[in-house]
Amino acid sequence: MLVILEAGADDSVVAQVVERIEQLGLKAHVSRGEFRTIIGAIGEEKAAFPEQLLSLQGVENVVPIMKPYKLASREFHHADSQVAVGGVKIGAGRAALIAGPCAVEDRASCLAIAECVKKQGANLLRGGAFKPRTSPYSFQGLGRQGLEILAECRERFGLPIVTEVTDPRNVELVSEYADMLQVGARNMQNFVLLAEVGKAGKPVLLKRGPSSTVTEWLMSAEYILSEGNRQVVLCERGSRGFETEVRFSLDVSAIALAKHDSHLPVIVDPSHAAGRREVVIPLALAGLAAGADGLIVEVHLCPEQAQCDGPQALTEAMFAELMGQVKRVLAIMGKASG
Ligand code: PEP
Ligand code: MN
Repeated sequence: MLVILEAGADDSVVAQVVERIEQLGLKAHVSRGEFRTIIGAIGEEKAAFPEQLLSLQGVENVVPIMKPYKLASREFHHADSQVAVGGVKIGAGRAALIAGPCAVEDRASCLAIAECVKKQGANLLRGGAFKPRTSPYSFQGLGRQGLEILAECRERFGLPIVTEVTDPRNVELVSEYADMLQVGARNMQNFVLLAEVGKAGKPVLLKRGPSSTVTEWLMSAEYILSEGNRQVVLCERGSRGFETEVRFSLDVSAIALAKHDSHLPVIVDPSHAAGRREVVIPLALAGLAAGADGLIVEVHLCPEQAQCDGPQALTEAMFAELMGQVKRVLAIMGKASG
Protein backbone atom coordinates (compact mmCIF):
# COMPACT_ATOMS: atom_id res chain seq x y z
CA MET A 1 0.00 0.00 0.00
CA LEU A 2 1.04 3.58 -0.52
CA VAL A 3 0.01 5.96 2.24
CA ILE A 4 -0.10 9.54 0.96
CA LEU A 5 0.04 12.23 3.66
CA GLU A 6 -1.69 15.59 3.49
CA ALA A 7 0.38 18.53 2.22
CA GLY A 8 2.34 20.04 5.09
CA ALA A 9 2.17 16.95 7.32
CA ASP A 10 4.91 17.42 9.93
CA ASP A 11 7.33 14.96 11.50
CA SER A 12 4.92 14.02 14.31
CA VAL A 13 2.27 12.94 11.74
CA VAL A 14 4.91 10.90 9.87
CA ALA A 15 6.00 9.26 13.13
CA GLN A 16 2.42 8.35 14.11
CA VAL A 17 1.66 6.82 10.71
CA VAL A 18 4.93 4.85 10.72
CA GLU A 19 4.16 3.58 14.24
CA ARG A 20 0.69 2.40 13.16
CA ILE A 21 2.05 0.69 10.01
CA GLU A 22 4.55 -1.19 12.18
CA GLN A 23 1.81 -2.15 14.66
CA LEU A 24 0.02 -3.79 11.72
CA GLY A 25 3.09 -5.96 11.15
CA LEU A 26 4.23 -4.09 8.03
CA LYS A 27 7.46 -2.29 7.17
CA ALA A 28 7.33 1.46 6.52
CA HIS A 29 9.43 3.18 3.85
CA VAL A 30 9.21 6.97 4.11
CA SER A 31 9.71 9.00 0.97
CA ARG A 32 9.79 12.78 1.44
CA GLY A 33 9.11 14.95 -1.60
CA GLU A 34 9.15 18.72 -1.88
CA PHE A 35 5.38 18.97 -1.24
CA ARG A 36 4.26 15.52 -0.09
CA THR A 37 5.42 12.64 2.01
CA ILE A 38 4.49 9.16 0.83
CA ILE A 39 4.93 6.11 3.03
CA GLY A 40 5.17 2.66 1.44
CA ALA A 41 3.66 -0.07 3.70
CA ILE A 42 5.22 -3.40 2.75
CA GLY A 43 4.10 -6.83 3.95
CA GLU A 44 1.04 -9.04 4.10
CA GLU A 45 -1.92 -6.74 3.63
CA LYS A 46 -5.27 -7.48 5.29
CA ALA A 47 -8.55 -6.22 3.82
CA ALA A 48 -9.17 -3.77 6.70
CA PHE A 49 -5.73 -2.08 6.56
CA PRO A 50 -6.38 0.56 3.85
CA GLU A 51 -9.44 1.97 5.66
CA GLN A 52 -7.72 1.83 9.04
CA LEU A 53 -4.75 3.83 7.73
CA LEU A 54 -7.04 6.25 5.89
CA SER A 55 -8.72 7.00 9.23
CA LEU A 56 -5.48 8.33 10.73
CA GLN A 57 -5.07 12.07 11.11
CA GLY A 58 -2.94 13.63 8.37
CA VAL A 59 -3.50 10.81 5.84
CA GLU A 60 -5.00 12.00 2.58
CA ASN A 61 -5.20 8.77 0.59
CA VAL A 62 -4.25 5.10 0.68
CA VAL A 63 -3.56 3.30 -2.59
CA PRO A 64 -3.57 -0.51 -2.42
CA ILE A 65 -1.05 -2.14 -4.76
CA MET A 66 -2.65 -5.60 -4.79
CA LYS A 67 -6.14 -6.29 -6.15
CA PRO A 68 -8.76 -6.75 -3.40
CA TYR A 69 -9.73 -10.13 -4.90
CA LYS A 70 -7.27 -13.01 -4.96
CA LEU A 71 -8.66 -16.28 -6.31
CA ALA A 72 -10.31 -14.46 -9.25
CA SER A 73 -7.17 -12.55 -10.22
CA ARG A 74 -4.49 -13.26 -12.80
CA GLU A 75 -1.92 -12.49 -10.12
CA PHE A 76 -3.12 -15.70 -8.41
CA HIS A 77 -3.64 -17.83 -11.54
CA HIS A 78 -1.97 -16.62 -14.70
CA ALA A 79 -3.38 -18.90 -17.42
CA ASP A 80 -6.98 -18.70 -18.72
CA SER A 81 -9.28 -21.01 -16.77
CA GLN A 82 -11.67 -23.38 -18.47
CA VAL A 83 -15.05 -24.39 -17.04
CA ALA A 84 -16.82 -27.56 -18.19
CA VAL A 85 -20.64 -27.63 -18.26
CA GLY A 86 -21.97 -31.06 -19.17
CA GLY A 87 -19.52 -31.90 -21.93
CA VAL A 88 -19.17 -28.27 -23.06
CA LYS A 89 -15.96 -26.37 -22.36
CA ILE A 90 -15.91 -22.62 -21.79
CA GLY A 91 -12.73 -20.51 -21.82
CA ALA A 92 -9.12 -21.13 -22.87
CA GLY A 93 -10.00 -21.29 -26.57
CA ARG A 94 -13.50 -22.77 -26.25
CA ALA A 95 -16.70 -20.76 -26.64
CA ALA A 96 -20.13 -21.25 -25.03
CA LEU A 97 -23.03 -20.63 -27.41
CA ILE A 98 -25.97 -20.44 -25.02
CA ALA A 99 -29.44 -19.78 -26.41
CA GLY A 100 -33.07 -20.25 -25.47
CA PRO A 101 -36.13 -18.44 -24.21
CA CYS A 102 -36.05 -15.79 -21.50
CA ALA A 103 -38.45 -17.93 -19.46
CA VAL A 104 -39.70 -21.49 -19.75
CA GLU A 105 -43.34 -20.74 -20.62
CA ASP A 106 -44.74 -24.17 -21.47
CA ARG A 107 -43.46 -27.58 -22.58
CA ALA A 108 -44.26 -27.30 -26.28
CA SER A 109 -42.68 -23.89 -26.90
CA CYS A 110 -39.57 -24.75 -24.87
CA LEU A 111 -39.03 -28.03 -26.75
CA ALA A 112 -39.49 -26.22 -30.08
CA ILE A 113 -36.99 -23.48 -29.16
CA ALA A 114 -34.49 -26.05 -27.87
CA GLU A 115 -34.76 -28.02 -31.12
CA CYS A 116 -34.26 -24.84 -33.15
CA VAL A 117 -31.20 -23.55 -31.25
CA LYS A 118 -29.60 -27.02 -31.29
CA LYS A 119 -30.09 -27.24 -35.06
CA GLN A 120 -28.48 -23.83 -35.51
CA GLY A 121 -25.37 -24.72 -33.48
CA ALA A 122 -26.02 -23.73 -29.84
CA ASN A 123 -24.18 -25.92 -27.35
CA LEU A 124 -26.09 -24.99 -24.17
CA LEU A 125 -29.77 -24.21 -23.52
CA ARG A 126 -30.88 -21.25 -21.40
CA GLY A 127 -34.33 -20.64 -19.87
CA GLY A 128 -35.62 -19.24 -16.60
CA ALA A 129 -37.85 -21.27 -14.31
CA PHE A 130 -37.52 -18.68 -11.52
CA LYS A 131 -37.69 -15.18 -13.00
CA PRO A 132 -36.50 -12.04 -11.20
CA ARG A 133 -39.18 -9.61 -12.43
CA THR A 134 -39.34 -5.89 -11.73
CA SER A 135 -43.08 -6.13 -11.14
CA PRO A 136 -44.68 -8.63 -8.75
CA TYR A 137 -47.62 -8.80 -11.20
CA SER A 138 -45.44 -10.06 -14.11
CA PHE A 139 -44.99 -13.75 -14.98
CA GLN A 140 -42.69 -15.18 -12.30
CA GLY A 141 -41.76 -18.46 -14.02
CA LEU A 142 -43.02 -22.03 -13.70
CA GLY A 143 -40.69 -23.02 -10.84
CA ARG A 144 -40.12 -26.78 -10.50
CA GLN A 145 -42.32 -27.52 -13.51
CA GLY A 146 -40.06 -25.26 -15.61
CA LEU A 147 -37.00 -27.17 -14.39
CA GLU A 148 -38.63 -30.45 -15.42
CA ILE A 149 -39.30 -29.09 -18.91
CA LEU A 150 -35.67 -27.98 -19.19
CA ALA A 151 -34.50 -31.45 -18.12
CA GLU A 152 -36.69 -32.99 -20.82
CA CYS A 153 -35.13 -30.64 -23.41
CA ARG A 154 -31.67 -31.76 -22.27
CA GLU A 155 -32.65 -35.42 -22.72
CA ARG A 156 -34.20 -34.86 -26.13
CA PHE A 157 -31.55 -32.60 -27.68
CA GLY A 158 -28.39 -33.27 -25.68
CA LEU A 159 -28.09 -29.64 -24.55
CA PRO A 160 -26.83 -29.02 -20.99
CA ILE A 161 -28.98 -26.40 -19.26
CA VAL A 162 -28.26 -23.01 -17.71
CA THR A 163 -30.97 -21.61 -15.47
CA GLU A 164 -31.24 -18.90 -12.86
CA VAL A 165 -31.52 -19.36 -9.13
CA THR A 166 -32.89 -16.28 -7.40
CA ASP A 167 -33.22 -17.47 -3.81
CA PRO A 168 -30.67 -19.21 -1.54
CA ARG A 169 -33.52 -21.51 -0.39
CA ASN A 170 -33.87 -22.85 -3.96
CA VAL A 171 -30.21 -23.63 -4.67
CA GLU A 172 -30.64 -27.31 -3.79
CA LEU A 173 -33.76 -27.69 -5.94
CA VAL A 174 -32.31 -25.88 -8.99
CA SER A 175 -29.04 -27.83 -8.63
CA GLU A 176 -30.96 -31.12 -9.01
CA TYR A 177 -31.83 -30.11 -12.58
CA ALA A 178 -29.37 -27.50 -13.83
CA ASP A 179 -25.94 -28.11 -15.35
CA MET A 180 -25.02 -24.49 -14.62
CA LEU A 181 -26.53 -22.14 -12.04
CA GLN A 182 -27.10 -18.58 -13.20
CA VAL A 183 -26.84 -15.70 -10.73
CA GLY A 184 -28.73 -12.80 -12.29
CA ALA A 185 -27.59 -9.20 -12.56
CA ARG A 186 -29.92 -8.07 -9.77
CA ASN A 187 -28.47 -10.67 -7.42
CA MET A 188 -24.78 -10.06 -8.15
CA GLN A 189 -24.33 -8.72 -4.63
CA ASN A 190 -26.69 -11.11 -2.86
CA PHE A 191 -23.83 -12.46 -0.78
CA VAL A 192 -25.91 -15.19 0.89
CA LEU A 193 -26.91 -16.52 -2.54
CA LEU A 194 -23.28 -16.33 -3.76
CA ALA A 195 -22.09 -18.39 -0.79
CA GLU A 196 -24.85 -20.98 -1.36
CA VAL A 197 -24.06 -21.42 -5.08
CA GLY A 198 -20.41 -21.61 -4.06
CA LYS A 199 -21.26 -24.65 -1.94
CA ALA A 200 -23.51 -26.32 -4.55
CA GLY A 201 -20.62 -27.83 -6.55
CA LYS A 202 -22.12 -26.77 -9.92
CA PRO A 203 -20.64 -24.38 -12.48
CA VAL A 204 -21.95 -20.83 -11.96
CA LEU A 205 -22.71 -18.10 -14.49
CA LEU A 206 -22.28 -14.80 -12.67
CA LYS A 207 -23.87 -11.80 -14.36
CA ARG A 208 -22.53 -8.31 -13.79
CA GLY A 209 -24.88 -5.98 -11.91
CA PRO A 210 -26.16 -3.10 -14.06
CA SER A 211 -24.49 -0.52 -11.81
CA SER A 212 -21.49 -2.52 -10.61
CA THR A 213 -17.84 -1.89 -11.34
CA VAL A 214 -15.62 -4.64 -12.71
CA THR A 215 -13.88 -4.83 -9.34
CA GLU A 216 -17.20 -5.32 -7.52
CA TRP A 217 -18.11 -8.04 -10.04
CA LEU A 218 -14.83 -9.85 -9.40
CA MET A 219 -15.31 -9.49 -5.63
CA SER A 220 -18.65 -11.27 -6.09
CA ALA A 221 -16.88 -14.03 -8.03
CA GLU A 222 -14.47 -14.23 -5.09
CA TYR A 223 -17.40 -15.10 -2.78
CA ILE A 224 -18.15 -18.17 -4.92
CA LEU A 225 -14.51 -19.14 -5.44
CA SER A 226 -13.70 -18.82 -1.75
CA GLU A 227 -16.34 -21.48 -0.97
CA GLY A 228 -14.16 -23.90 -2.95
CA ASN A 229 -16.10 -23.70 -6.22
CA ARG A 230 -13.63 -22.80 -8.98
CA GLN A 231 -16.15 -23.22 -11.82
CA VAL A 232 -17.19 -19.61 -12.34
CA VAL A 233 -17.97 -17.94 -15.68
CA LEU A 234 -18.54 -14.17 -15.78
CA CYS A 235 -21.22 -12.56 -17.96
CA GLU A 236 -21.38 -8.91 -19.08
CA ARG A 237 -24.98 -7.87 -19.78
CA GLY A 238 -24.94 -4.07 -19.95
CA SER A 239 -24.82 -1.25 -17.44
CA ARG A 240 -27.21 1.55 -16.63
CA GLY A 241 -26.49 4.35 -19.09
CA PHE A 242 -28.12 7.55 -20.33
CA GLU A 243 -29.23 6.19 -23.72
CA THR A 244 -32.97 5.59 -23.79
CA GLU A 245 -33.10 3.71 -27.11
CA VAL A 246 -31.53 0.61 -25.58
CA ARG A 247 -32.33 -1.03 -22.25
CA PHE A 248 -28.77 -1.00 -20.91
CA SER A 249 -25.41 -0.06 -22.44
CA LEU A 250 -23.26 -3.07 -23.28
CA ASP A 251 -19.89 -2.38 -21.66
CA VAL A 252 -17.43 -3.88 -24.13
CA SER A 253 -14.51 -2.45 -22.17
CA ALA A 254 -15.64 -4.46 -19.12
CA ILE A 255 -15.22 -7.66 -21.14
CA ALA A 256 -11.65 -6.75 -22.10
CA LEU A 257 -10.90 -5.54 -18.58
CA ALA A 258 -12.30 -8.63 -16.84
CA LYS A 259 -10.29 -10.84 -19.23
CA HIS A 260 -7.17 -8.82 -18.41
CA ASP A 261 -7.58 -8.77 -14.63
CA SER A 262 -9.06 -12.26 -14.17
CA HIS A 263 -8.34 -15.75 -15.48
CA LEU A 264 -12.05 -16.64 -15.39
CA PRO A 265 -13.96 -17.11 -18.67
CA VAL A 266 -16.15 -14.13 -19.63
CA ILE A 267 -19.20 -14.34 -21.89
CA VAL A 268 -21.49 -11.67 -23.31
CA ASP A 269 -25.28 -11.27 -23.08
CA PRO A 270 -26.29 -8.88 -25.86
CA SER A 271 -30.04 -9.54 -25.37
CA HIS A 272 -30.53 -7.94 -21.95
CA ALA A 273 -28.17 -5.09 -22.88
CA ALA A 274 -30.05 -4.24 -26.06
CA GLY A 275 -33.63 -4.88 -25.02
CA ARG A 276 -34.48 -4.91 -28.74
CA ARG A 277 -33.63 -7.54 -31.29
CA GLU A 278 -32.36 -5.23 -34.06
CA VAL A 279 -29.12 -4.52 -32.21
CA VAL A 280 -28.51 -7.93 -30.61
CA ILE A 281 -26.38 -9.36 -33.45
CA PRO A 282 -23.86 -6.48 -33.66
CA LEU A 283 -23.51 -6.40 -29.85
CA ALA A 284 -22.91 -10.15 -29.75
CA LEU A 285 -20.19 -9.89 -32.37
CA ALA A 286 -18.60 -6.88 -30.60
CA GLY A 287 -18.46 -8.88 -27.37
CA LEU A 288 -16.76 -11.82 -29.07
CA ALA A 289 -14.32 -9.50 -30.84
CA ALA A 290 -13.45 -7.96 -27.45
CA GLY A 291 -12.43 -11.42 -26.24
CA ALA A 292 -15.61 -12.94 -24.80
CA ASP A 293 -15.53 -16.72 -24.46
CA GLY A 294 -19.05 -17.12 -25.77
CA LEU A 295 -22.51 -15.63 -25.60
CA ILE A 296 -25.94 -16.11 -24.09
CA VAL A 297 -28.86 -14.95 -26.23
CA GLU A 298 -32.63 -15.08 -26.04
CA VAL A 299 -34.50 -16.80 -28.85
CA HIS A 300 -38.26 -17.23 -29.29
CA LEU A 301 -40.20 -18.73 -32.18
CA CYS A 302 -43.20 -16.42 -31.57
CA PRO A 303 -41.76 -13.36 -29.78
CA GLU A 304 -45.15 -11.63 -30.00
CA GLN A 305 -46.54 -14.31 -27.67
CA ALA A 306 -43.60 -14.35 -25.21
CA GLN A 307 -44.38 -13.93 -21.51
CA CYS A 308 -41.27 -11.85 -21.04
CA ASP A 309 -38.58 -10.05 -23.06
CA GLY A 310 -40.30 -10.69 -26.44
CA PRO A 311 -38.90 -7.49 -28.03
CA GLN A 312 -35.30 -8.64 -27.56
CA ALA A 313 -35.81 -12.29 -28.57
CA LEU A 314 -34.14 -13.31 -31.83
CA THR A 315 -36.36 -15.11 -34.31
CA GLU A 316 -35.14 -18.39 -35.78
CA ALA A 317 -33.92 -16.62 -38.93
CA MET A 318 -32.00 -14.02 -36.94
CA PHE A 319 -30.45 -16.67 -34.70
CA ALA A 320 -29.33 -18.61 -37.79
CA GLU A 321 -27.77 -15.41 -39.17
CA LEU A 322 -26.04 -14.74 -35.83
CA MET A 323 -24.61 -18.26 -35.69
CA GLY A 324 -23.19 -17.91 -39.20
CA GLN A 325 -21.41 -14.69 -38.24
CA VAL A 326 -20.30 -16.04 -34.86
CA LYS A 327 -18.47 -18.90 -36.61
CA ARG A 328 -16.46 -16.40 -38.62
CA VAL A 329 -15.60 -14.18 -35.63
CA LEU A 330 -14.62 -17.18 -33.50
CA ALA A 331 -12.32 -18.40 -36.28
CA ILE A 332 -10.60 -15.00 -36.34
CA MET A 333 -10.30 -15.06 -32.54
CA GLY A 334 -8.81 -18.58 -32.65
CA LYS A 335 -11.66 -20.14 -30.67
CA ALA A 336 -13.78 -23.22 -31.22
CA SER A 337 -17.37 -23.84 -30.17
CA GLY A 338 -17.38 -25.50 -26.67
C1 PEP B 1 -31.79 -13.55 -17.67
O1 PEP B 1 -30.74 -13.85 -18.25
O2 PEP B 1 -32.79 -14.26 -17.70
C2 PEP B 1 -31.87 -12.28 -16.92
C3 PEP B 1 -32.91 -12.00 -16.14
O3 PEP B 1 -30.82 -11.48 -17.12
P1 PEP B 1 -30.21 -10.32 -16.15
O4 PEP B 1 -30.06 -10.92 -14.80
O5 PEP B 1 -28.91 -10.02 -16.83
O6 PEP B 1 -31.17 -9.17 -16.21
MN1 MN C 1 -34.82 -12.10 -20.33
